[in-house]
Amino acid sequence: METKAITEILNNNDIKPSYARIQIYKYLEMYKSHPTVDEIYLHLIDEIPTLSKTTVYNTLNLFSERELVLVLNLDNLEKRYELVEQNHIHFICESCKKIYDIPYEDNNLLPKGFENFQIEEKHIFLKGQCPKCSKLN
Ligand SMILES: [Zn+2]
Ligand SMILES: [Zn+2]
Repeated sequence: METKAITEILNNNDIKPSYARIQIYKYLEMYKSHPTVDEIYLHLIDEIPTLSKTTVYNTLNLFSERELVLVLNLDNLEKRYELVEQNHIHFICESCKKIYDIPYEDNNLLPKGFENFQIEEKHIFLKGQCPKCSKLN
């Protein structure tokens, strides 16, 4: 995504589009790897020497408040972040710790008799061995 498009998204969400914020957004858009604060910081520090981890952290919190970013707090790992996009569930591999996005479309999560519960957020989180790791075992 171009800087101009990101600037517009931030403006539309009442976020002042500072250079650091735009770069953080761009990073999340390019690397859909559920990065941690540290990973984002280490990637951007060369380009933005004034960047601090606190800035990265605060920016991600702000993005999450405006529902641009989803915070993943999985399995006692460090918090991870991703842009809010299509519905997907997460699969975490217990061997390599990689988090996989798996598309998910079933909207009828609730069984009969529970249809009156209004779902506002869904966090489905599966654990196991990814195909790569289960081959090795
Ligand atoms: Zn694995
Ligand atoms: Zn994801």
